[in-house]
Amino acid sequence: MKIVDGLHAFIWRVHTQNNCNTYLIDGELKILIDPGHRHLFAYVEKSLAALNISHDQIDVAIVTHGHPDHLEAVQGLNKATMFAMNDQEHRFISELAGEYFKIPEPHFFIKEGDLTIGEHRFEVIATPGHSPGSICLYWPEKKALFTGDLVFRESIGRTDLPGGNGGMLKESIEKISGMDIDYLLCGHGEIVAGKKEVKGNFEKIKNYWFDYL
Ligand SMILES: [Zn+2]
Repeated sequence: MKIVDGLHAFIWRVHTQNNCNTYLIDGELKILIDPGHRHLFAYVEKSLAALNISHDQIDVAIVTHGHPDHLEAVQGLNKATMFAMNDQEHRFISELAGEYFKIPEPHFFIKEGDLTIGEHRFEVIATPGHSPGSICLYWPEKKALFTGDLVFRESIGRTDLPGGNGGMLKESIEKISGMDIDYLLCGHGEIVAGKKEVKGNFEKIKNYWFDYL
């Protein structure tokens, strides 16, 4: 699904399997955000093929956090695809996975602050709570925020997984809720489009969920 020029969302709508939404930034460089589970990557490949893109053409893969339903498919990407994630999250998830699952080594780490990839400028925002090194990625040019599992449409990320923290999740939501956002690109479920709708979504989340955090 095309969101705006140069930005596509591959929304995961199969309710019997857990996988995340994947986003493609299609420009001079092709950037894939949260490629998902490896065994479900065919879904992304099919969505890319519909845009006449093969997964070999992905230049950079970025994950918002280290859970397998966001990160695992990085393993199946072309060797030439650069992989990036937050360093704190990489340490945390590598320790947690131990010998059961080898977390791929990033080509570069992303930390809070500006991030330039080719022609695109992003802002990385540290948003712990769902996991210790979760990040949101803001694309000012499109006023788009890739939230990972921090917030969803009318909902919030789990805090009961290892390293989860309700107080931190709340602070992270506060941190992003005042931003100028036209597209809230959530890690699961439907996206939220429109400034007013995004604002309304944060209000609903605060009114309903903050009492539980
Ligand atoms: Zn997660």
